[in-house]
Amino acid sequence: MKIFIETYGCQMNVCDSGKITHLFASQGYQPTRDSRSADLIVINTCSVREKPELKLFSALGRYIPLKRQRPELVIAVGGCVAQQWGEKLQQRCPGLDIVFGTHQLDHLPELVTAVRQSHKALNSTDFLDCPGGLEVMARPGAGAISAMVTIMQGCDNFCSYCIVPHVRGREYSRASAAIIEEVRMLAAAGIKEVMLLGQNVNSYGLKASGEISFAKLLKLVHEIEGIERIRFTTSHPKDMSDELISAFTTLPKLCPSLHLPMQAGSDAVLKRMGRGYTAASYLEKVEKLRRVVPDIALTTDIIVGFPGESEADFQQTLSMLEKVGYDQIYSFKYSTRPGTRAADYEDVVADAEKRDRLARCQGLQDKISQAVLLAQVGKVAEVLVSGPSKRGEDEWSGRTPESRIVNFPAPVSARAAVKIAAGDIFQVKIVKAFKHSLRGEVVVDAGS
Ligand code: SF4
Repeated sequence: MKIFIETYGCQMNVCDSGKITHLFASQGYQPTRDSRSADLIVINTCSVREKPELKLFSALGRYIPLKRQRPELVIAVGGCVAQQWGEKLQQRCPGLDIVFGTHQLDHLPELVTAVRQSHKALNSTDFLDCPGGLEVMARPGAGAISAMVTIMQGCDNFCSYCIVPHVRGREYSRASAAIIEEVRMLAAAGIKEVMLLGQNVNSYGLKASGEISFAKLLKLVHEIEGIERIRFTTSHPKDMSDELISAFTTLPKLCPSLHLPMQAGSDAVLKRMGRGYTAASYLEKVEKLRRVVPDIALTTDIIVGFPGESEADFQQTLSMLEKVGYDQIYSFKYSTRPGTRAADYEDVVADAEKRDRLARCQGLQDKISQAVLLAQVGKVAEVLVSGPSKRGEDEWSGRTPESRIVNFPAPVSARAAVKIAAGDIFQVKIVKAFKHSLRGEVVVDAGS
């Protein structure tokens, strides 16, 4: 039996797809990249933006006709779009067998068995007190050095533009003991780098009685032998506590890189978005972080053309980009998400204006990103090797603690060629900056 999984959207979805692969591996399913040879097709969706939703309908338009040649093929749609649409998705797309919600991931194998027996379409989108699937472990693939660990799910912030609290449910933190156990197992399996995941990891544990804070959880993960690097995402600026900021100084394995979504630089827009901070308080957090970790690499999310955003508001977003000096930004035109508060906002920005602002925003950031990368030339960085580079020819690729990509040739020491494998750590001198990556040369000891 073969399973084909298509994943849209964020890292949480990538992590969930890993869990689905694992759940079906124990039932004898092998992953395949060829949808035409699959016995089960799972589409794991995202509805944070409009595009992945459109992508889903086009994918179903391709996959459902495959059932004519393979009547035993089962097609399932999960994730945020499934949660939002429920059985309406099956009404719109006849031939879709299963719709499973964001709390029902662990029930998917039972749903597939039931559909195979009954030949009837099923849907399961109830929210549960504890989201199903959170305790399912995504086993790392052979030779993997990095793994994602979900520590919490859902969100209570209800930003006015965001569909997440409506489709992922209210904030729920996993027990710290279960998280630590999972990271220990990953370390024993050879994982060196963990990414702790959640919609708002900064508020981990705050609403679970007797649970520890996120900073304390990081400390426990830090103690696990074999884990060399710790990352986390996503952080809400308003919940970035002093305790968490100081963890960057006390926990050397905690990488100096942080995704801190800013969304907009204008206080008026931030207020309408319901973000709970101002541009000044955001900058204050950035300054605090840079006081303790001067070289911390920051990335962010930006929405342009939010209802009511004037040119002057937009200029403030550009000014924030310059003040912070992000490594990278993930920027989007605002698109209405039905069911959110902002869907009722008037004062809509024209699409042509949104496109123009997005182009200006990305144009400015390209220059800033380039300057950040150029400033690395001449420095020596610690690079964790992820595998051969795309160029091949004995070229390797890895990331610095700041998450910058570095490609480098296999070094030759005074005595012999140095053997390289994923998971190795090298000191690499940066010799060149490209648009999205760096090039380096391994610093080889004269005596090695
Ligand atoms: S913090 Fe806001 S933007 Fe982030 S998931 Fe929660 S509601 Fe959505």
